[in-house]
Amino acid sequence: MKKGKMIILSGSSGTGKTTISHFLLSIFPELKFSVSCTTRSMRNKEKNGIDYYFISTNTFISKIKKHQFIEWEEVYPKLFYGTLRNEIFKIWKSNQHILLDVDVKGGINLKKQYPNNSLSIFLMVDSIQILKKRLFIRNSGRYFNENQINIRLKRVKEENNYAKLFDVVLLNIDLVQTKNKVVQIVSNFITNKN
Ligand code: 5GP
Repeated sequence: MKKGKMIILSGSSGTGKTTISHFLLSIFPELKFSVSCTTRSMRNKEKNGIDYYFISTNTFISKIKKHQFIEWEEVYPKLFYGTLRNEIFKIWKSNQHILLDVDVKGGINLKKQYPNNSLSIFLMVDSIQILKKRLFIRNSGRYFNENQINIRLKRVKEENNYAKLFDVVLLNIDLVQTKNKVVQIVSNFITNKN
C-alpha cells in the first residue's frame, strides 16, 4: 500500500480548526480532506459525505466491530467521531496527501500510528478568547451560565496539556498571521522529500 503524507489538525473545539482546514484545502490542491463518520446530527449548511458521513450510533458501533476505523473517540458524551481506514487509503491511492480535523486524543493516536509520514499541528487560543466565544453559542443565541463556562475552560486547559505531544503548536490569536504560518509549515512538510 502506497503511503502519502498526513496532516493532522487538532486542538480544542473553537480554536479555528475548521477555518484553517478549509483555508489549507483552498491553497493546496494536493491535499484532500478525510471525511469522518459522526453520530451527531447535521448542522445548517453541512452536507453528508462532504463535511461528515452522518450515521446512526448502531451503524457506528457495527463499524467499530468490523475494524473499519483507524481511530475513533466519544468526543462528547454519546457522540462518536471516527476516521475510516478506507477513506485514508482512498486518498493515498489517488496520490494526494491527507488533511484531518480531529480531537486531541484522535490526533495523538494518529501520530502514533504514522510517526514518520505525518505532521501533527495543535491549534490553541488563549483562555480569554475562548471565554468570549463560549459566552455566546453560535447561531442559537443561548447563553452559557458561569458553571458551564468553567467546565469548558477546564477542558480547554486539560487539552492544552497535550500540546507537547504534537509536532507543531500554533497559538491562533490573529487569524491572518496563523494562516500565513500554517501555509509555510504545511508547504515545507509537503515539499520535503523524506
Ligand atoms: P464538530 O461536531 O464541531 O464538527 O466536531 C467536534 C470535534 O470532533 C472536533 O474537535 C473535531 O476535530 C472532532 N472530530 C471530527 N472528526 C473526528 C474524527 O474522525 N475523530 C476524532 N477523534 N475526532 C474528530
